[in-house]
Amino acid sequence: MVNVIVTGGAGYIGSHACKVLRDSGFTPVTYDNLSTGWADAVKFGPFEQGDLMDRARLDEVFAKYQPVGVMHFAAFSQVGEAMREPGMYWRNNVCGSLTLIEAAVAAGCLNFVFSSTCATYGDQDGVVLDENSAQYPLNAYGASKRAIEDILTDFKASHGLESVIFRYFNVAGADPDGEVGEFHQPETHLIPLMLDAIDGKRAALTVFGTDYPTPDGTCIRDYVHVMDLVDAHVLGVKWLQDGKGSRVFNLGTGKGFSVREVIDHSKSVTNREVPYELGERRPGDAVKLVSGSTRAEAELGWSPKRSTLETMIADAWRWHQNGHYDK
Ligand code: UDP
Repeated sequence: MVNVIVTGGAGYIGSHACKVLRDSGFTPVTYDNLSTGWADAVKFGPFEQGDLMDRARLDEVFAKYQPVGVMHFAAFSQVGEAMREPGMYWRNNVCGSLTLIEAAVAAGCLNFVFSSTCATYGDQDGVVLDENSAQYPLNAYGASKRAIEDILTDFKASHGLESVIFRYFNVAGADPDGEVGEFHQPETHLIPLMLDAIDGKRAALTVFGTDYPTPDGTCIRDYVHVMDLVDAHVLGVKWLQDGKGSRVFNLGTGKGFSVREVIDHSKSVTNREVPYELGERRPGDAVKLVSGSTRAEAELGWSPKRSTLETMIADAWRWHQNGHYDK
């Protein structure tokens, strides 16, 4: 068995990654403390419950599975919460990742795929970003992820740890087979909140800010389908297995959509009205985050297949109507 440890494998992106790893001949070993994930979402390989800061538990899991690599998704990831509780983000994301990285190195597992974020770039005056764009995170979420990138650089120099770092943009959609999907409690992300509002599970969506310097005044984001995103992660593991060494890849579509455009598309995909109201800006939000994926396409051979807004919303809507998890 070719094992890959997937931290956060019980979460939204991690559970989809486990499915694609399994379909690509790997055995995904989920390592998750279930603080935000769901045991029900672990369907494609073994589950080892544990905390990132528990070094003894990590050592045990590395020894048991002798993994060829690690895919590290587990993290706190909400901008609003990061603005209210920065300490929580620094402690959990940075100290947890450091413990994991040290355990991986001690076990001789030197292939590390890291889920970073476009939030490390901060606001860049509306430019289309690439991997060489400067990083000026606006919040403790982005700053904690950038710090982990720095740790990986240092551990390469001193211990030969090779990493593929993916900086990605807004992830949306769900497994088209309906086996796994997006389910956060509480939910904070635009598309699932909008779908909740459409079918009456919540009163209305609040649009966070309508006076941004964009054509319609609302923030612009680059949305990537979760299945495309996890395909890239599997290519990242193979890249490291092939000895191609450490590399950073942005995963975006190069096309941004404003909050109002997402509302309009949701209306046409679901054929239902979107109840929404206009509200204040959310602290910590960047105006526009859009990136191409030239490098990922050219070097990894990544080709996004489902990342049109229509497909993402349609897949999310199908899951929304049929799927959920219980602990
Ligand atoms: N957004 C919004 N109302 C909400 C949630 C999000 O207007 O209830 C906006 C948010 O300000 C941002 C975009 O939708 O411009 C995407 O936000 P989300 O939280 O989904 O992802 P983020 O960009 O923070 O990673």
